[in-house]
Amino acid sequence: MSGFEVPLRAELLGEVPYGAPQLDVPVRLNVNENPYPPSAELIAHIAAAVTVAAAQLNRYPDREASRLRADLAGYLKTHENVDVDPARVWAANGSNEVMHQLLLAVGGPGRLVLGFAPTYSMYPQYCRDTFTAYETVDRNADFTLDVDRAVRAVRERRPVVTLLTSPNNPTGTALPLAAAEAVLAAAAEHDGLVVVDEAYAEFRRPGSPSALELLDLHANLVVTRTMSKAFAYAGARVGYLVADTAIVDAVRLVRLPYHLSAITQVVARAALSRAGELLAQVDTLRVERDATVDWLRAQGFTAADSDANFVLFGEFGDRHAIWQGLLDRGVLVRETGPAPWLRVSIGTAADMTSFKNALLEMAAIAAIGLPQDDTGVRGKVEA
Ligand code: PMP
Repeated sequence: MSGFEVPLRAELLGEVPYGAPQLDVPVRLNVNENPYPPSAELIAHIAAAVTVAAAQLNRYPDREASRLRADLAGYLKTHENVDVDPARVWAANGSNEVMHQLLLAVGGPGRLVLGFAPTYSMYPQYCRDTFTAYETVDRNADFTLDVDRAVRAVRERRPVVTLLTSPNNPTGTALPLAAAEAVLAAAAEHDGLVVVDEAYAEFRRPGSPSALELLDLHANLVVTRTMSKAFAYAGARVGYLVADTAIVDAVRLVRLPYHLSAITQVVARAALSRAGELLAQVDTLRVERDATVDWLRAQGFTAADSDANFVLFGEFGDRHAIWQGLLDRGVLVRETGPAPWLRVSIGTAADMTSFKNALLEMAAIAAIGLPQDDTGVRGKVEA
């Protein structure tokens, strides 16, 4: 440390880089990763694709990522039954970068982004970085959207972007299409965009719709998605948006040239060509998620309904103590969202057994809101 004082922008003074702890513990359930690593077959397929691409690494990659965008459109057709022209798809390094690019294009001084709290903790950061104001309106106590309140806020505050997150992080709450449509109509009155952040959409329960269905009805709709969760591809950093081509063209103005490396593009395409295999694991995680919600409730905890690959549970007087107690037992969850709650990502059956046993062990030592049985000590959960 030289002691050099960096001439930071005023709004960055005292800030720390964003990020959950990356701790090396046996059971990592804190950043909504998919617990299943690629199969040996997929690894071989990825390696072969990388070998081919490596032969041309002296050249810049396709700036427009055309083949990847076509494959993403193909995935949406096959797996979501939505027909979109690849020109309406835009890809970047994670949906984080997609949102960042979008706000570079449409945010800026004097402009506002509106979200619905509690919601994803990166939104304020995208806004700060793009000199855009950020405000939130509270959700209902059960974390659903108060549609009338949302519509009123959109009309009054006239945000350039309204962020609807479905399923919402950290609550897991999905949004009915009628609610999205009401907000889209209100935003259209002042030519505002509505982003439906569907990072976790593939995990939604039967009957929960995707806003992709609304794309042809609302030119101001942007749906963002990611390969980080359902595709178990967080390490590859691939996210995308689907929107009107005018919106894609706006984003193309601000993206750095060659933002998506040739390696990333082929690695993403390799996984998309195995979408069926990868998405089979989503069903397993969904079942595990529902079982986790049921188990938590049966033990006397509160657990929010979830359409995602995580569950918000509580309610704790001192959640940090519970978080620490779980960590001491090798289980890392996330201290995020409203103060009395913790968020646990859904892992393998073995991961969830470790989570449950750690929680029960703590309950046996100290009352943490669990109804105690006669002995105050509970049996182990079978693996
Ligand atoms: N949106 C939401 C709601 C998220 O929870 C996340 C990841 N935690 C993202 C976007 C970004 O994901 P990625 O950049 O990995 O695509």
